[in-house]
This record gives sequence, C-alpha cells and structure tokens, in this order.
Amino acid sequence: IAARSSETTNSDATQQVDVAVVGAGFAGLYLLHRLRKAGFTVVVIEEAGDVGGTWYWNRYPGARCDIQTIDYSYTFDPELESAWQWSEKYATQPEILRYLGFVADRYDLRRDIRFGTKVTAANWDESAERWRLTTSDGADVSCRYYIMATGCLSAPKPPEIDGVKDFKGEVYFTGRWPHEEVKLAGKRIAVIGTGSSGIQSIPLLAEQAAHLTVFQRTPNFALPAHNGPAPADRTAMLQGDRAAYREQARWSLAGVPYPQQMAVSWQLSDAERRERFEQAWAAGDLVHILTQLWADQGVDVDGNALLADLIREKIRNIVKEPEMAEALTPHDHPFGAKRPCLDTNYYATYNRPNVTLVNLRQEPITSITASGITTDKRTFDVDMIVFATGFDAMTGAIKAVHPITGRNGKSLSDVWASGPQTYLGLTVSGFPNLFLITGPGSPSVLSNMAVSIEQHVDWVVDRLAALREAGFTTIDATETAQAGWAQHMADCSMLTLHRLANTWYTGANVPGKARGVMPYTGGVGPYRSICNEVVARGMLGFKLS
Ligand code: FAD
Repeated sequence: IAARSSETTNSDATQQVDVAVVGAGFAGLYLLHRLRKAGFTVVVIEEAGDVGGTWYWNRYPGARCDIQTIDYSYTFDPELESAWQWSEKYATQPEILRYLGFVADRYDLRRDIRFGTKVTAANWDESAERWRLTTSDGADVSCRYYIMATGCLSAPKPPEIDGVKDFKGEVYFTGRWPHEEVKLAGKRIAVIGTGSSGIQSIPLLAEQAAHLTVFQRTPNFALPAHNGPAPADRTAMLQGDRAAYREQARWSLAGVPYPQQMAVSWQLSDAERRERFEQAWAAGDLVHILTQLWADQGVDVDGNALLADLIREKIRNIVKEPEMAEALTPHDHPFGAKRPCLDTNYYATYNRPNVTLVNLRQEPITSITASGITTDKRTFDVDMIVFATGFDAMTGAIKAVHPITGRNGKSLSDVWASGPQTYLGLTVSGFPNLFLITGPGSPSVLSNMAVSIEQHVDWVVDRLAALREAGFTTIDATETAQAGWAQHMADCSMLTLHRLANTWYTGANVPGKARGVMPYTGGVGPYRSICNEVVARGMLGFKLS
C-alpha cells in the first residue's frame, strides 16, 4: 500500500499523523520504511541534523562497531544487502553513517523526518485516544501511536566533576564529537573514562598528542579487534545461504549466528581451554569470545574466572610496567557481566613514553581548574579534556522527554521512580499506544542491536496493522502482565552473571539512578519466541479497545 503523505492542519499548526516516531537512527529509519509500506501516515522527529543516531553523534577518533559489520546490518531487504559492501570486518563510524545515509536515500526516507527538532513532552489525550507531542520547534504533533526509537546509548552522561566550566582549554565529549576536524597534534590531552569510547579513542589520541593522560576509575576487559577484511569463513557462510544465516542470527542468543556452546569448562583440560582461548583471542571476534569458549562462562562464576584469568594474563604480558598492568586489570566483575570492549593497540598504548595512567581509585579528581585537572595528589596541566564518560543508558533518552503523561495524568518518571517497568521492553502499562524500541526489558544492548531492532520494529508495525484491521484504536499492557515480565526478567538475570557487576546495564554509572539489570538476559531467540507467543495467544497481557 502506498503511504499517504503526512497531513497538517493549519488552524493550530499541529501536525496530524497516524504514527509519530522519535529518533532517526537504525530503529527510526526502519520504522519509517515499514510504517509507510503498511499505509500509515508517519512523521519522524530527530534532534540531529541528519539520519544515523549513534553514528551521527559518535564521531570521535577510532569510533567503530564491535559486532562484525556483516552481522551489524539491516536484513529486511535482500536487494539492499546486495547493494552494499562493507570494506572491513569492523566498519568505522564514517562508513556506518554512510550506510545509514544510503538506506535513507534508497527508501526516500528524509522527506518525512523533521531534523533539528526535539520532542520535549508527550501527553495522552484519553478522550481523543491520541498522543500530543510538544516539540522544540513549536509545531506540536498529534498521533494515534507514539514510538520512541530514542536509542539506548544516546543520552550522554554529564560530567560529575566540578569546574568544567572554568577550564580554559578545549572540551570534547566522545558522544557529541564535533563535525569539523579536531586538531590533536602536539597537544597535552586528558581523557576521562575507559569504557568502550575511551578504549577505542585512546590509542589514536596517544599517537598524535604531545602527552596523553588517561584518568581511569574502573578498568575494563578489552579484546583485540584484529581488524581487516571480513573473515572468509563467515562471509562464505553468509553468501552460501543468506536467508539461513540471517534466520540463525534471529534465533540465536546474541543476535549473531553462533550455536549454543555445549562443552562445560570442567570437561576441558587446561590445555584445551587455553587452545580455545588463544584461537578466539587471535580471531578478534567479541561475540565468539563472549559466548563460544565454554558453556558455563556466562552463567557460573568459576567457569567465568577461568576465562577472566586468561585475559588478565594477556594484559600482564602486553603492559610492560607491572604497576600499570595491575591498574589496568579488572578484578571487580566477571568477564562479560560488563560490556567488554574491542580494541586496537589499547593495552600496548600504555607502553608509550607519552602516556600516563591516573588510577582514580587511588587518587580521585578533586577539581577541574582553568589549566587542567587536579587530583588529591597532583595537578595535570592540559590543553584539551576529552570526556569519554558514557551514557545514561536505556532510560536516559526516554526520561529526557518530560513529562510523558499517560492515563489518569500518570507521569512515566513517577511510574519508573524505582526503576523502569515495561511489558516485553516494548510497552508500559497505563501508557496506551506508546511503544519503546529496544526499551529496558528487551535484549537490546546485550545483543547485536541490528537484529533486535528489526524484530521490535516488525512486531510493533505488524501489531498496529492488525489492530487497524480489527477496528481497535488502543492497546495497553495490563499491570499483571507487566509484573509478570518483571518477575521473568529477575528470574533470567539470576541465571547469568550480569547482576554481579556495577555497570551501565544496571544503572550503576549514574549517581542516584535506580539499580537493577535493565536489559533482558534471556537471549534474542527466546525473546522472539515469547513475543510471537503473545500474539499467538490473542495478545496475551494486553487490553485492546
Ligand atoms: P540511536 O542510534 O541512538 O538513535 C536515536 C536517535 O534518537 C538519536 O539520533 C537521537 O538524537 C534521537 N533522539 C533521542 N531523543 C530524542 C528526542 N527527545 N527528540 C528528538 N530526537 C531524539 N550496537 C551493536 O549492536 N553493535 C555495535 O557494534 C555497536 N557499537 C556501538 C558503538 C558506539 C560508540 C555506541 C554509542 C553504540 C554502539 N552500539 C552498537 C549501540 C547502538 O546504539 C545501536 O546499535 C544502534 O545504533 C541504536 O539505534 P537506535 O536507532 O535504536 O538509536
């Protein structure tokens, strides 16, 4: 069915559409395409100046994906897959951004996207059975369905340190890196944070800086990417039977087509475990090392420790100065319980004479001054500070739309005061016709998100089409179903080790944020089958009217 164009009523400049989507990243672009094809009128509202989401904002040196790009791609259109060739195993940010621009052009998506516009509030009008969105450019939107494709990692966390405004040098945030070139050569640079963005950018900053000082609060496990062409065996599998390869990914645990590993650590000898580990280390494949070494690595502390120890040994072997090696070695969480990083020369960078590591566990930052950073032991004069301090993950961008008011004037931030509550990670009871893409309670950040996003979008758009077909105008999750999902989430997370780490998965990186494992830990395939079963059982857990 051809899409009808968006309608605007001039009387109060409110744009009237069937569906409003917020965000034009991987999720928002595919939503727009599918909704149009299903015959809905759609507007997408996007704060950025163009499409891309994550890949629009994160332009820092070294930014790239850590799921192999042949897997981190759309799969909904085989012709699109043949029309695009990735140049590397792990594509860089500019290439992924070009890909998303290519997708936007191919399906003519930009004409329904309002760029440079922020949704600031959303209000459910019970009598009209419509959402009203307030936007930063003044033109409100009235829509039957409101879909937040606002991203899990799109709300950068503000610095927790006093004095940033007093600093007279340059200040950058990895998650808001400027479009124009940042001159690094010969500068004294400070990086605060050693999460994924820090670990990707530090080696490149060190190559150019006169001196690089890294301020680390918590060390992370990082694994070598060994970037290069996509591996021949995976490419051959994909090209041999593209449909089967993609289908296996959809039913896998992490959204990448690997089988469930069956051998348990204690069934393998030390030599066998080491051999598996060395092969995985050399292969440079995050999902392989996270899921394929032995069956109990992600669910049992002892099985996990065997793997974590092998990685710690690698760190000690690479970093020459023992005290520095020790400071860079994680001991406070099981491997994989916190997002591990994929690196290119990360640990070796600390052998350079122009790199200093400051261990904030031993000497916390006390202030940022006009000329640099002061800890309780020393002062570092620098020309530039790079904040690689991460995101208010999973809930940050949703709660930034404030208020979101549902039935009976209930505000989402009140309902979520002690942690996010959702049914399937997709809906919130009391907020009819609101959908979250990769919301808290879905596999999202524990998976290849391209696969999770496509599953969410397909499920939501198919439901909207079915509601329309059946003559329903509202859909709302029941409180019982939502409570049941919370229980199921808790049961699943008891089976994995994610609950044992203080991470952005659990809200621990944001002061005052409610704690709890936010993504669904049961896996992508099991999650998909639950979503399908909900439909097969007459929209189990939803009230339609
Ligand atoms: P986003 O890409 O975050 O897009 C959301 C958009 O919504 C943004 O453009 C934002 O501006 C907009 N928005 C938010 N709130 C509002 C508002 N109120 N009004 C208007 N606009 C709004 N995932 C993987 O699976 N594999 C990887 O290798 C990988 N690498 C990553 C590397 C980095 C550096 C980062 C930060 C994330 C990475 N991710 C990776 C996760 C990545 O976020 C997802 O894969 C995916 O890009 C998310 O797409 P999205 O459309 O859901 O959200």
